[in-house]
Amino acid sequence: MKLTLLGTGCPVASAKRFGPAQLIQDQEHTVLIDCGSGVTQRLLGAGCNGAQLDAIFITHLHSDHIVDLFQLIISSWHQGRDRPQRIFGPKGTQHHIEQLMALWQQEVVHRTEYEQRPSTSALSVEVEEIQQGSIITIGSIDVTAVEVDHSFYHALGFVIESGGKKMVFSGDTRPCSALERAALGADLLLHEVFIHNAFKADFIIRTEQTIANVAAYHTLSSDVGKVAQRAGVGTLVLTHFVPPGCDLKQLHQEVSRDYSGSIVMGSDLLSIEV
Ligand SMILES: [Zn+2]
Ligand SMILES: [Zn+2]
Repeated sequence: MKLTLLGTGCPVASAKRFGPAQLIQDQEHTVLIDCGSGVTQRLLGAGCNGAQLDAIFITHLHSDHIVDLFQLIISSWHQGRDRPQRIFGPKGTQHHIEQLMALWQQEVVHRTEYEQRPSTSALSVEVEEIQQGSIITIGSIDVTAVEVDHSFYHALGFVIESGGKKMVFSGDTRPCSALERAALGADLLLHEVFIHNAFKADFIIRTEQTIANVAAYHTLSSDVGKVAQRAGVGTLVLTHFVPPGCDLKQLHQEVSRDYSGSIVMGSDLLSIEV
């Protein structure tokens, strides 16, 4: 299967790193994980589009992971999609999407009445809430949900298996033993990272307390290599760079002190065959 990183950023806007989103493709099926800012443009950059998606999985309801969900739904319709989007996410996803579709209801009514496109199926959404241990099968791709530790925020990571290969996505989490167990022996671990030494308090955007609070629900660059080493994964791919602009050479050196496997610094539109 092929993993393409569509967005490797975080809530901080960046011209290089769009919001979190990942594309998984095997011979026949296409799965999207998260819908961060710019996901529809990045899908096109990856040679895909929203009309082709078989399922969308949401790690959690923080805005950076779902902010372009409606844009994805409406643009998929413009791209000729003729079936509802299937969305799987944690508790609260159903409510969020009901509210989202209600917010845009007038837009949908006006467009469908005026534009008279052959199908409106793409504007329907099928939502299924999932939890720790849920296994969803999309063709030959199995996706298993793992509850991770994003502090007070309910969040999921995912184990993705196809053709005898296994990838694990952390979503947003601080170091999490359940995720580590799920990642044991995985071919690839895609993990978020918080680069602690890249931040300085300035008393306008962030105080020392802000930095400490944000760091406390992410995985520090001084910890992420230890997680990968304990799990014994083949390759560690870093994503969700907080902040999006950081010294990658320094980060690589820091992580490689703890992890002896292959380290990939994720970048938007990077594809990896697993
Ligand atoms: Zn995030
Ligand atoms: Zn988050």
